[in-house]
Amino acid sequence: MLAMILESPRTPLRQVDLPLPQAGPGQVLLRVEACGVCRTDLHLVDGELPEPRLPIVPGHEIVGRVAALGEGVGAFTVGQRLGVPWLGWTCGCCDFCTSGRENLCDAARFTGYQIHGGYAEYTVADQRYCFPLPETVPAIELAPLLCAGLIGYRALAMVPDARCIGLYGFGAAAHILAQVLNYQQRRFHAFTRNGDSAAQDFARRLGAAWAGDSDASAPEPLDAALIFAPAGELVPAALGQVRKGGTVVCAGIHMSDIPAFPYRELWGERCLRSVANLTREDGLRFLDIVAATPIRTEVRGYALDQANSALSDLRSGALIGAAVLLP
Ligand SMILES: [Zn+2]
Ligand SMILES: [Zn+2]
Repeated sequence: MLAMILESPRTPLRQVDLPLPQAGPGQVLLRVEACGVCRTDLHLVDGELPEPRLPIVPGHEIVGRVAALGEGVGAFTVGQRLGVPWLGWTCGCCDFCTSGRENLCDAARFTGYQIHGGYAEYTVADQRYCFPLPETVPAIELAPLLCAGLIGYRALAMVPDARCIGLYGFGAAAHILAQVLNYQQRRFHAFTRNGDSAAQDFARRLGAAWAGDSDASAPEPLDAALIFAPAGELVPAALGQVRKGGTVVCAGIHMSDIPAFPYRELWGERCLRSVANLTREDGLRFLDIVAATPIRTEVRGYALDQANSALSDLRSGALIGAAVLLP
């Protein structure tokens, strides 16, 4: 099969021919229909994530069809459409796994990081971490839901009572979350790279009450701010925008260092936290919302061998919405 692999950090992905993988016990072989390009892939390629298993096939927003079932797989059938997210394996028995926090499992393995992912014609996944996906939506539009959508949803789940929310970085995750917020009738304001009028227009089109530069002030205090851009200087900026008792959630896996800021920015019971990975429960809940909400993802398709172009478009900020590879 054709696959794109990362052999060492800070080098372009290389196109290779790999033998067709085999589904082991409890695994499924999937023919990849579409695989989203996530910012985490960029951090991986840029050498910003510790200890990837190299060489690795990246990609953890996989939409595929079951091509073969491994031993003991009863839940799915050949031909069925499944989604594979970032969390690809957990131990199932540690304190985290047994208390509904498998996203924090110390032994967890991640798709496209320690397990070969979806930048390929076929991939193998653990059946426990596959979600059935609807047939009515094109694969290309489903792919970004599997990480950008899910992580956005988990970040939002940290602030269940917030009515007025700031979104920092209006890319793949925020544009999906905006539609969830509209559906839930919650107000949101969008903060983008300074001067990025295309992203600000995009946010307004998706219902933002206000959109502006990341160092600007929203027209009202926020109950919460969710940061999707990997820039540490957004943390004090966002803390400055949330009202007393408000929460700032950092949703990315990697962020540049957070600059020092005065304690009074945190004072008033403001809360600063991160969101790590996802749980299967998040996936099931989010896909229920997707089924009830007409969420449309804005996508740009790339051929599999154009993966390096997709990554560089994401890096440069030239992309509106999400990039998706179509093997
Ligand atoms: Zn565990
Ligand atoms: Zn991701």
